[in-house]
Amino acid sequence: MRHFAVVGSGPAGFYTAEALEKAYGDRARIDILDRYPVPYGLIRFGVAPDHQSLKAVSKRYDKVAESAGVDFIGNVMIGRDVSVAELLDLYDSVILATGAPHDRKLGIPGEELPGVVGSAEFVGWYNGHPDFADLDPPLHGTHAAVIGNGNVALDCARILSKTRHEFEGSDIVGHALEALDKSAIRTVTILGRRGPHQIAMTPKELGELGHLEAAVPVVDPADFPPVQADEPLEPGLRKSVTLLRGFADLPQEKPKRMVFDFFAKPVAIEGDGKVERIVVERTILDESGGARGTGETYQIPASLVITAIGYSTSPIPDVPYGGGKFVNESGRIADRLYAVGWARRGPSGTIGTNRPDGYEVADQIVAAMPADQSSDRSGAEGLKRLLGERGVMPTDYDDWRKIEETETANARPGSPREKFVRHEHWLQTIGR
Ligand code: NAP
Repeated sequence: MRHFAVVGSGPAGFYTAEALEKAYGDRARIDILDRYPVPYGLIRFGVAPDHQSLKAVSKRYDKVAESAGVDFIGNVMIGRDVSVAELLDLYDSVILATGAPHDRKLGIPGEELPGVVGSAEFVGWYNGHPDFADLDPPLHGTHAAVIGNGNVALDCARILSKTRHEFEGSDIVGHALEALDKSAIRTVTILGRRGPHQIAMTPKELGELGHLEAAVPVVDPADFPPVQADEPLEPGLRKSVTLLRGFADLPQEKPKRMVFDFFAKPVAIEGDGKVERIVVERTILDESGGARGTGETYQIPASLVITAIGYSTSPIPDVPYGGGKFVNESGRIADRLYAVGWARRGPSGTIGTNRPDGYEVADQIVAAMPADQSSDRSGAEGLKRLLGERGVMPTDYDDWRKIEETETANARPGSPREKFVRHEHWLQTIGR
């Protein structure tokens, strides 16, 4: 028998477990560990609550979790409750699938002012992440700004702009729904340090902005190159740019505006004890397509600033780390230690990108550890013994099912579930 520990129960962790289960069948036991008693990582805490179709992929992960060779071990934090070295003693291989939950920093003055929040914090707040339940983002002002031109920036801007009615069918948490319903924000400026041809937003996500109940996207046609310049663009990007251009023709009478401000690089955030404005430098593209400042600056009012400029992985003691992820070569960190997903590649790609990623690392493990050989490592049995000695109480997949049932039973009309937003509420639900 082989024993594998996959650390992290988001998409990358589940695809890797699926691949290992397929490769080893009943000759391996695969434990998916998570610091929380609830699985799915990014699917639960990152994917926007109004994108339920994306969240449906968790049904596939359910099948993996329910297969005979796979167990979910929740409520265990690697690096705190058990070290990576201890896991490597207990398991044949350890695969880190811990994602990238920390916001990258802008590195400009004023970034620490109250009212400046990272997208991981803001997204965590509206998705019921316990670390951000008390974020209380300032929604009392009329102007907000979102920094970044990727899909996360779009998620944040859209969530700020939707009406209560538009959240029907979503699993947004109650505290966020109530706060957003009372929000005074009427203008959300989306700041891109480069131009429309350099956006990282995808067509489906951009297209949604044209159909919002109370908000309209706003672009300045002067920011766009002549339309012929779109022709050489990769088809997805060309579609996105065409959608952006089309925003200029939309009727503008809706009460809320989502203003795309291109060639706008934030250089400082200012305010008296809290954020009041962003100082932005106008840019032009340099020879290599980067943003070069022109020296011309202007100010944008904002009582909430959300930075959506990318994420980094949490370091784990004794695991080599650099550039916001674990140092690895094609997923291999060291002997029997691997990384997958954003912990391996950095924060890019769709949920589906993690599938080939996980399968590739599983292939390497299979090559290094033939399925017909076994080891004398103790796997989950040894782990649970160690955790017991330390007073850590792991949870299992049945516990998650109880939590899920309770969340579903508590759901408000039109919502699939009412998420618990405190760790202790998860534990109370399962009698801990
Ligand atoms: P992203 O796609 O890498 O976009 C990051 C944005 O931040 C870029 O526009 C980048 O501009 C900008 N940026 C970086 N540093 C900056 C700075 N110092 N000042 C100003 N702007 C800066 O990252 P993301 O939006 O966090 O998304 C992460 C991944 O998740 C992406 O692959 C995304 O597609 C995916 N995602 C998908 C969905 C969906 O499918 N619905 C939803 C959310 C996220 P430059 O290009 O100039 O560097």
